[in-house]
Amino acid sequence: MSAPVYKRVALIGLGLIASSMFWAMKRAGLSGEVTGYARSSETRETARRIGLCDRVCDSAAEAVEGADLVVLCVPVGAMSTVMEDISAALMPGATVSDVGSVKRHVIEAVSPHIPEGVHFVPAHPLAGTEHSGPEAGFAELFDNRWSLLVPVEGTEPVAVDRLRRLWEGMGANVDEMDADHHDLVLAVTSHAPHLIAYTMVGVADDLRRVTDSEVIKYSAAGFRDFTRIAASDPTMWRDVFLTNKDATLEILGRFTEELFALQRAIRTGDGEHLHQYFTRTRAIRRGIIEAGQDTDAPDFGRTKT
Ligand code: NAP
Repeated sequence: MSAPVYKRVALIGLGLIASSMFWAMKRAGLSGEVTGYARSSETRETARRIGLCDRVCDSAAEAVEGADLVVLCVPVGAMSTVMEDISAALMPGATVSDVGSVKRHVIEAVSPHIPEGVHFVPAHPLAGTEHSGPEAGFAELFDNRWSLLVPVEGTEPVAVDRLRRLWEGMGANVDEMDADHHDLVLAVTSHAPHLIAYTMVGVADDLRRVTDSEVIKYSAAGFRDFTRIAASDPTMWRDVFLTNKDATLEILGRFTEELFALQRAIRTGDGEHLHQYFTRTRAIRRGIIEAGQDTDAPDFGRTKT
C-alpha cells in the first residue's frame, strides 16, 4: 500500500476506465475516498451494487465537492457539457484531469470551464478492452501500460507530478507529450487501426451471402482479432473520429496509398515487393513484444472468451 496521493478523487462517468481506476486506486490505497457519478440511474445503481466507488452521488456537482482530483471519464464529445455542470462546484486548488482518447479537442472543450485556481492536467491511459460499462473494469488494466500526461501551458509542475504519482501507483508507466503529437501518434497506433477493423468486419458482413456462418465458424485469428476491436463502444469511437479528424484522415490517406501499392504488387505478381513489405512489418511486431507491450503467444496472450 502506498500513501494516499489525493484525499478525495471524483470519477465522473463510471465505465470501463473509471471502474478500472477505482479498483487500481483501491489496490494501492492511492485515495482517501473515491466518489463517483454517472448520468443514468441504471449505471449509478449498478455501481452501488458492486461497490464501485466509496460513495456514488446523484449529481456530478455533489461528486466533485471537496475533491482534490476530478477525473472526467466520459466520451470525448461529452467533456464540455460535463465541465459546465461541475465548474462552479470545484474546490480551489483542485486538479481536473480526463482520460479521453483525443487530447487537442478535450483541451479546447474543457479549458474555458476551468475556474481560476484550479489545475487542468489532461491524461490518456493507453489501455482498454472492447468491453464497456461499470462492470467491465479491473485493477490490472493499467499495469505496465503507458499513460500519457498532456499538460497545458502554464500548468504548475506540482499538479502534474502528483497526477504522475497516481498513474504510477495504478501500475502505469508515465510519459508527457504535446497534445497535437499525441493525437497524431494515436491516429497511427489506435484510431486508424480501429477504423480499418470496423471496415474489415463490415466487409465480411457484406459478404455473408457467400460465406454465411462460415465467416464466424472458420474465422482465423486475424479476422477474430478484427472482430474484437470492431466490438468496441460505438459512442466512444464515433467521438474519437469526429474529434481527431485531421490526424486520422492524414493516416488513412497514407494507408490507402500503401494499400493500392500492395494491391498492384499482387496484381502484377511482384513477390519481391510483398516479401520486403511483410519483412518490415514483422520487425515492427517484434519491437512491440520486446518493449513488453504484448506477448508472443499466438492468441496475443488473451483468453478466449
Ligand atoms: P464507457 O465504459 O462506455 O463509459 C462511459 C461513461 O460515460 C458511462 O458512465 C456513461 O454513462 C458516461 N456517458 C456517456 N455519454 C455521456 C454523456 N453524453 N454525458 C455524460 N456522461 C456520459 O467508456 P470508457 O471506455 O470508460 O471510456 C471513457 C473515456 O475513456 C472516453 O473518453 C474514452 O475515449 C477514453 N478511453 C477509453 C479506452 C477504452 O479502450 N475503452 C481507453 C483509453 C481511454 P451511462 O453509463 O450512465 O450511460
